[in-house]
Amino acid sequence: MIIPIRCHSCGKPIAQLWEEYKRRIAQGEASAKVMNDLGLVRYCCRAQFMGHVDLIDEISKFKKG
Ligand SMILES: [Zn+2]
Repeated sequence: MIIPIRCHSCGKPIAQLWEEYKRRIAQGEASAKVMNDLGLVRYCCRAQFMGHVDLIDEISKFKKG
């Protein structure tokens, strides 16, 4: 799964932020704080990132099973 290049709702480019987001989440930072730092202030863009993480979790369940 690859993050969309741009937010589906507002068109803001977000793909270049994904790697840093993932890295900082893995280091234990709160996702809301990281998104603020990255300039993801609109809820439509934040939903792209949060929905993406959830989707990966869902798929990994199927792979393990
Ligand atoms: Zn957006």
